Amino acid sequence: MPVEVALARLLDMAAAAPILMREEAPLADCMGRVLAEPLVAMLDLPPWPNSAMDGYALRVADSKGQPLPVSQRIFAGQAPHPLEPGTCARIFTGAPLPAGADCVEMQENAIVHDDQRVSFSEPLANGQNIRPQGQETTVGETVLVAGTRLGPIELGLAASLGRASLKVIRRARVAVLSTGDELVEPGQPLGPGQIYNSNRRLLCSWLQRLGCEVIDAGILADDLEMTRAALTGLGNVDLILSTGGVSVGEADWLGHALREEGELALWKLAIKPGKPLTFGHYRGVPVLGLPGNPASTLVTFALLARPYLLRRQGVGDVTPLCFSMPAGFNWPRPGVRREYLRARIELGRVVLYPNQSSGVLRSAAWAEGLVEVREGTTVQEGDRVSFIPLSEVLG
Ligand code: AMP
Ligand code: MG
Repeated sequence: MPVEVALARLLDMAAAAPILMREEAPLADCMGRVLAEPLVAMLDLPPWPNSAMDGYALRVADSKGQPLPVSQRIFAGQAPHPLEPGTCARIFTGAPLPAGADCVEMQENAIVHDDQRVSFSEPLANGQNIRPQGQETTVGETVLVAGTRLGPIELGLAASLGRASLKVIRRARVAVLSTGDELVEPGQPLGPGQIYNSNRRLLCSWLQRLGCEVIDAGILADDLEMTRAALTGLGNVDLILSTGGVSVGEADWLGHALREEGELALWKLAIKPGKPLTFGHYRGVPVLGLPGNPASTLVTFALLARPYLLRRQGVGDVTPLCFSMPAGFNWPRPGVRREYLRARIELGRVVLYPNQSSGVLRSAAWAEGLVEVREGTTVQEGDRVSFIPLSEVLG
């Protein structure tokens, strides 16, 4: 199954099972979450015309004759008097413009005479150095649409409009299961044949950055009884996300349990790293089974699970930005699967981590992004390739 077909199916299923519950959350608790209703401006921004410079506010027409006396000093946070005709006002950045003034001249172009009157060395233009009322937004304007993901910029914007809280979609509750008899948690001694569980930390941390509530279900042994028990004990979640055990191997207990209690689709994706991906339901709860090799987990989470989870929360655009960059490598043999190679930019060209094995997570720590090499294609140095920055998918 081509990656785009799998993604389209997942997104359809996500759109059919949206998380509808919404809650009012303080801005400090909104990071990474999804706006449930449009953010509409309840005030003009800026609320009044103000100075963009430290300098003098005046009427252009008054500047032509004699030097002007300074009739008031206006700091940010103060309410000015109307400007007396034939005078100027000392004004500082962000201070409200006094009524009657139609320009601000920066202090560098002002000549202050011994008698404290001020003349101006440069020609003045109406409106210069003034930030007009409502230049950013006016009352009633929709500033952010429902379905927007809230990051630092959106939250800063909401704060600038005076919002202390926002209506957001309830956090998606995601249970993370790491399957594999060989897995041991960091901090424990390693026995023979054992490895440390890296996917649990990778996914739990990533999901937190995506604004999800993580139910960390720990390690699941390769055993049918234990798998049943673990699934049953999960309680009320929006998604069960597991890693490992999805190849049609003998230890495919998750698939087994899903077949008993729900339904299971095993997709052979034309993706590398990644190939086997499970999607199913356990007693009505969606289950996404990612392959266990850490680089496969990373790639399939980035390209499939992340957009799925965002779409469940009503996010419209779930496609990461992707840049066309010249290749700094050769890829002479066309593959049958679409490859996502861990890469970074050096001297304006995309270069690859030397070991692209799906077990090597270090490749992704070194990388700045994933290069997409489509199935059936080759790449020669200098050819343009698609580069998806990891920063696009990690948050
Ligand atoms: P599986 O899909 O269970 O056959 O696992 C494929 C490969 O990924 C095997 O080498 C596993 O040991 C490894 N693997 C599976 N789960 C994890 C995990 N949570 N952390 C690190 N490696 C894993
Ligand atoms: Mg396994």
